[in-house]
Amino acid sequence: MTKFKTQAISDEILEKLSLKNRYSFVNNNLMSILSPKQFNFLKTVQRFCLRFEKKNDITHGPEEDNYEWIPAFGKEGYITRSHNFNMIDINYDYHGACADFMRYLAVDSFDPQFGMASGATVHAINPIYEHHENIPVRLEALKELVTGKSPGCIMITEPERGSDAVHMLTICDEQEDGSFLLNGEKIFSTNAPKSKWAVCYATAEKNNGNTMAQFLIDTTWDGWNCERVMIPWVPQVFLGKEKLVNLQVPKEYVLGGIGKGREHLFEGLIPERIGIAIGAIAQCWGALAHAVIYANMRKQFDKMILLFQGVGFLLTDLWARTTNITLGLLKFAESYDEKMEKFGGDIPRNINQAMVASASQFKYHCTSLAKDVCYECANVMGGAGLCDNTLMHDYLNMSRIQEIVGGSRQIQSYIMSMALRQIYKMSVM
Ligand SMILES: Cc1cc2nc3c(=O)[nH]c(=O)nc-3n(C[C@H](O)[C@H](O)[C@H](O)COP(=O)(O)OP(=O)(O)OC[C@H]3O[C@@H](n4cnc5c(N)ncnc54)[C@H](O)[C@@H]3O)c2cc1C
Repeated sequence: MTKFKTQAISDEILEKLSLKNRYSFVNNNLMSILSPKQFNFLKTVQRFCLRFEKKNDITHGPEEDNYEWIPAFGKEGYITRSHNFNMIDINYDYHGACADFMRYLAVDSFDPQFGMASGATVHAINPIYEHHENIPVRLEALKELVTGKSPGCIMITEPERGSDAVHMLTICDEQEDGSFLLNGEKIFSTNAPKSKWAVCYATAEKNNGNTMAQFLIDTTWDGWNCERVMIPWVPQVFLGKEKLVNLQVPKEYVLGGIGKGREHLFEGLIPERIGIAIGAIAQCWGALAHAVIYANMRKQFDKMILLFQGVGFLLTDLWARTTNITLGLLKFAESYDEKMEKFGGDIPRNINQAMVASASQFKYHCTSLAKDVCYECANVMGGAGLCDNTLMHDYLNMSRIQEIVGGSRQIQSYIMSMALRQIYKMSVM
């Protein structure tokens, strides 16, 4: 149960807002939509989260350090289910985009800020998974990240280069022995102050996207300087501002040499944007679960508030939109998994191109929906939705930042407008 300073919600309602009941609400909505395999996995992760919350007496209060929970989730295989990691002797019988969707749905209801921070570790895992080339130090880093020994971070954004990510200023200088010296600044790297491993982009020539490269960094190396950037909307997530000063990256840690960086950056965008879209939808379900339980119990004018049209019809609208987008996202995840299987993990370029546009559509649409759903759900709960007695303030806060993370709303629109141009050229003779 959530930690609070002063109880504002009645004992009776607070008890009914338990994680168990919120999971049950989500499950009753999704049981007819999900396949038995998806549903069973969702319930398995939920059972783990319920036991973990109870056993460790977790209150989700501000004094708790979410990062301490990572090893336990890693041990169960709940940091990511996007891949099967047989190169590091980890064999998840159920993995892929759908499996990871289910994992995220369960983890996010347990603790939204923990879900978000774990998502950033996954963004560091994906490029190492794609480019490990069986080199032992890379496999070691991959294993530590996947098994929860350490969180990870991805460093793209710079103080002067945010949306314009391909015109970087952080310099990489190749040395005679094949190592690189990195110099420059990065910012807003989720998890960086807590991470042992970082995946970082830099460029041989400032502002030249063709000379970008990608590196794996051990944050204990000399030249790594990191301070925390506080984002008050997510006080339990640690973001970093890094100053890299002659930081030497040995050759084995170069995931993509000069000229490969941009390609690697774009390759990571589909899973990253779909991951953010899934997070946003998970938050919609979490917010709805709170608001629907509350509206069925709270009485005003001697009537449960759900029965007033102003409340009930608002909730039905949010519920319908959340259900429909969940269906769309699930269809995308299923289709992604099918294609990965069909093409042995290497989806052809033209299909991949189409998926870039879909990933932007979902990122754009889901984060925009979460902004409405989380705000309106808090709103129909009145003061109860705004105080610290439940996780609603996390949903409210996180739904305010998701349109920026992973490429802003305007940048998604920009990508989609370029896709429309492509489709026009393909369609009109
Ligand atoms: C909580 C959080 C977590 C983050 N995690 C990470 C992380 O782990 N790793 C990482 O590398 N980065 C991370 N970021 C950074 C994030 O990706 C950037 O903040 C984002 O890309 C926007 O860059 P910016 O902040 O520099 O804004 P700017 O690029 O300066 O944008 C400012 C405004 O201008 C608009 N704009 C810019 N260019 C255009 C255009 N061409 N057309 C229309 N509008 C435009 C933007 O939409 C925005 O509204 C994180 C950010 C936050 C807030």
